[in-house]
Amino acid sequence: MNATPEIIQGGQYNIGHICTRMQCDRGLGDKVAMRWLGAHGERADYTFGDLERQSSRFANVVGDLGVAPGEVFFIFLPKMPEVFFAFLGGLKARAITGTLFANFGEEALLDRLGDAGCKAILTRQSYLKKFQRIRDKLPTLKHILLVDAEKDLAPDVLSYPRLMAAASERFETALTPPETPSVLHYTSGSTGKPKGALHHHRSVLHQSRTAAEVLDLKPDDRYWCTADQGWVTGTSYGIIGPWSLGVTQLHFGGAYDAEKWFRLLQDERVSVWYTAPTALRMLMREDPALFGRFDLSGVRHIFSVGEPLNPEVISWGRKVLGHDIYDTWWQTETGGILITNRPGLEIRPGSMGRPLPWIEAAIVADDGTVLPDGEHGNLCLKPGWDSMFISYFHHEDVYRQKFRHGWYLTGDTAYRDADGYYWFQGRSDDVINTSGHLVSPFEVESALLEVAGIAEAGVIGASDDLLWEKVVAFVALRPGAAWGPELELKARIHVSNRVSTVATPQEFRVLENIPKTKSGKIMRRVLKARYTGGSVGDVSTLDFQDGANKEQP
Ligand code: AMP
Repeated sequence: MNATPEIIQGGQYNIGHICTRMQCDRGLGDKVAMRWLGAHGERADYTFGDLERQSSRFANVVGDLGVAPGEVFFIFLPKMPEVFFAFLGGLKARAITGTLFANFGEEALLDRLGDAGCKAILTRQSYLKKFQRIRDKLPTLKHILLVDAEKDLAPDVLSYPRLMAAASERFETALTPPETPSVLHYTSGSTGKPKGALHHHRSVLHQSRTAAEVLDLKPDDRYWCTADQGWVTGTSYGIIGPWSLGVTQLHFGGAYDAEKWFRLLQDERVSVWYTAPTALRMLMREDPALFGRFDLSGVRHIFSVGEPLNPEVISWGRKVLGHDIYDTWWQTETGGILITNRPGLEIRPGSMGRPLPWIEAAIVADDGTVLPDGEHGNLCLKPGWDSMFISYFHHEDVYRQKFRHGWYLTGDTAYRDADGYYWFQGRSDDVINTSGHLVSPFEVESALLEVAGIAEAGVIGASDDLLWEKVVAFVALRPGAAWGPELELKARIHVSNRVSTVATPQEFRVLENIPKTKSGKIMRRVLKARYTGGSVGDVSTLDFQDGANKEQP
């Protein structure tokens, strides 16, 4: 319904093919597709021809290892050139290709690899020990490929350089119909384990179109997306959208560093920059003199995604950077931008913007009634855009629950103003958004219960000036256990190792008991009220009165 048909040639929807071979066929083989800038000053340029050859080699590797179309292959690496080759190569081979944040701990890995039935993974030697501890629980995992091993380490722990050197750089991508499953991203909910949002190759239509019509990418642009490839922004707009248009991307392997970032924007003449509110808020805290030292006249547009973009950030952008910052709203499940401020549309600071012309959004009450402008309710979308997820992998029942009264429920609450702008209010569930990462309180609580001395745990998100939300953990101790710096450190390290560094609680509170409903569900709303000093609301279903639940010093 909303295709950019010129990117589809002969019915070939394969994302890997479109981002590489098709660009070469368009005459862009010698154009730089990716300028790689490493954390320690390394630089390397890869043309579309290089991308085509490297991804084709990897597609052959995937096939030779016996990963069949429709089977799952994962990448577990920090940002590095191999991530891009393997991602595109996996898709060419029609493997379902997933990317994982390199900061995931072993439990987070086990949940995702186990649920997906992952057959092969690309990682590096320093992460091997995480796999060794969970390996026997992953019966489907047949091959671990290491980017940095010159030789195979075991029959199932293989050298990526060796495999790549032996593979042909020619690969004829089989005709891939639009409904063929493509990318898999796990996303956290407030209950249960994370779910894998599965996409299809058809999503390239929406990603390409929005890269052109929202990000306004032009053939000569130099585009920088700061997102990690473990997150959907890193694949939809850090790989697929821009390369489907033949646009040059910068990729930087270092962490946040204001000076390095501004040098990169200046020296690399970045023209379109896609980043996130936490990063922008960190920049706002820097000495304003820093910005004056750099010439950012090459920058044409700045976009943001992942968390609410505060109006103050927009006025800072105008004053200090001389630019509007366009907010974009979307989520793992939507596969691409749906509601947005964009060039040519008046920005209302604090609003996410308006839905794209081909997207129907509404604010809907729990009973399915579409609410009038100004009223708060569930942010819902009419299903049917090209990049919409096709299922939660292996959890069709949970997928179906996301649709009601003909609407897709995003899990966000919002309101719409009289001019059709949408204003984000929050989540309708307990998922925590900390610097753009969705963290499941359930996963953190489960990890905390494994710490000796902790009997119960309840985890909430509390508002934070920098991160939007921070992770706050309430714990109740076992008899005889005493809270102190040692136990707190143990708990932090444990969550970091088991779940991820971003999920590690910033703050702990100790209670005698964790408030629960009579059926044993943790009342996070009560914990939130306790944290903020707000009203607790109806507690008739609590298994004890909150007043009896004294906080310990
Ligand atoms: P994820 O699936 O990890 O990309 O997270 C998607 C969620 O992040 C959305 O459902 C929102 O709760 C939040 N989010 C993403 N973009 C925005 C935005 N521009 N403004 C407010 N919240 C956002």
